[in-house]
Amino acid sequence: MPEIIERVLYSAADIARRVAELGSRISQDYREGAGRDPYRRPLLVVGLLKGALPFMADLTRAMDIPLEYDFMAVSSYQGRTSPGEVRILKDLDSPVGARDLLIVEDIVDTGHTLDHILRRLRVRDPASLRVCTLLDKPARREVEVPVHYVGFTLRGKEFVVGYGLDYAELYRNLPYIGIVKPEYQET
Ligand code: 5GP
Repeated sequence: MPEIIERVLYSAADIARRVAELGSRISQDYREGAGRDPYRRPLLVVGLLKGALPFMADLTRAMDIPLEYDFMAVSSYQGRTSPGEVRILKDLDSPVGARDLLIVEDIVDTGHTLDHILRRLRVRDPASLRVCTLLDKPARREVEVPVHYVGFTLRGKEFVVGYGLDYAELYRNLPYIGIVKPEYQET
């Protein structure tokens, strides 16, 4: 285990089990919604780079409905120079008007990133807009955001890495999610 990690919070097996559950539940929800309109375009699953990459890959492979991929990349500066400022580094390739959109996020922390993305997408008039996050950290929330599907809810304010989540860009490739030792945690 890398030196910065205190302990494993969710093992690869815990994650796989939960992702499979989420995938089948989400498929069921959209199948029910889509069944009424045969002309409706397939679900557009939007992964937020870079952190959601492994989750998006596993979640969509646990889904058995027609779907398309797209990606957005944003950078956030909260806690440093300008609180809550979010910059779009890569926007969607596809138009989203009248499409069903599912945003896939690694973690919702203060909520600023997601709030900004949702505002930008809502004005493009999607048919529906839902959010699936692997991790939710409600204890740190600063803005209220709608989250429809949550993998795991963290009780405290711990900083975690692995399965897409980084520490100074490292450790995204760990197959598990680990808690970073207090002495390494950013404030
Ligand atoms: P928010 O805008 O909700 O505060 O922040 C969301 C982003 O902050 C996440 O997409 C993620 O990049 C980063 N983040 C928040 N909490 C953690 C954490 O515990 N670990 C890591 N690695 N990144 C986090």
